[in-house]
Amino acid sequence: MSIISSDISKAVNILNNEELVAIPTETVYGLAGNIFSEKAINAIFETKKRPFFNPLIVHISSVNYLENIVIDIPEKAKQLATAFWPGSLTLVLKKQPNIPDSITSGKDTVAVRVPNHTVTLKLLESLNFPLAAPSANPFGSISPTTAKHVEGYFKDNIKMILEGGSCKNGIESTIIGFENETPIVYRLGSISIEAIEAVVGKISIKNKKEIQPDAPGMLARHYAPSTKTILTENINKAIKTYSGKKIGLILFNTSIENDSIKHIIALSKNSDLSEAASNLYNALHELDDQNLDIIIAEKLPDYGLGKSINDRLKRATFSN
Ligand code: AMP
Ligand code: MG
Repeated sequence: MSIISSDISKAVNILNNEELVAIPTETVYGLAGNIFSEKAINAIFETKKRPFFNPLIVHISSVNYLENIVIDIPEKAKQLATAFWPGSLTLVLKKQPNIPDSITSGKDTVAVRVPNHTVTLKLLESLNFPLAAPSANPFGSISPTTAKHVEGYFKDNIKMILEGGSCKNGIESTIIGFENETPIVYRLGSISIEAIEAVVGKISIKNKKEIQPDAPGMLARHYAPSTKTILTENINKAIKTYSGKKIGLILFNTSIENDSIKHIIALSKNSDLSEAASNLYNALHELDDQNLDIIIAEKLPDYGLGKSINDRLKRATFSN
């Protein structure tokens, strides 16, 4: 029997019992457990094979709950929460003393957001604790954007996947931390830098080296298919280089006439970067299932969500 179900009250029972439920969000599916249950939090790390140094994002039902999780909220954090919640923006702020170290990997900060998905908001409102929910995939692999993707990864290891359709945004949240009240981007994601700057002004992006200890979602190889994947600005040249191989193509907005390539996915025929983001992981999952020799991905325009998509594609291609 499938573990995929739309029954929110069943999910409530499982979570109250300190067990895990995979939940839909507008970014990707999450593997959720009670933030105050040591048993549930351990199960999240074990099920994902996630290293303990990689902290979890806390999901709350509304901005009103924020003060139960964090202290000393900078003015710009309030502005960002007001502008983007419920939504795909995660804020890293000073934690309340009762937030367990296992959630924060021992740091004095905690990552928190209000997801923008009616099913999961209903679920959160029915619980008397927030949910820790990292992406519902084994550590390092492609994030899931459908309940079926999660089932493919974990069907024997979790009790339930709460059905919520395919994730609208399709890539992880943008993570913003604060240094001396100044916001800094820790991870690019489904809200563009331009949209954030429209609220708080010019913002800097922490570079990879600096961020490594803070946000392992920034590890060089992450979000990766098992098929060798490359990223290129010159698709035709790459196709020539790998001629004779079984090739899968991920293109931005065009199609290519080439009889020898059977698997070609255009992320957005209308050149719409949001649509491209929402199709990205599904495209990687689909091509990864075809026993190809290589996936060749086309670099997208490097602005708006194109920047976030290129970031994920870079990590998908790193030394495999
Ligand atoms: P995931 O839930 O799989 O999207 O990964 C969560 C991301 O949030 C990881 O990259 C974490 O390292 C990052 N994160 C969570 N808590 C913190 C924190 N306190 N400081 C910095 N980054 C964090
Ligand atoms: Mg993840």
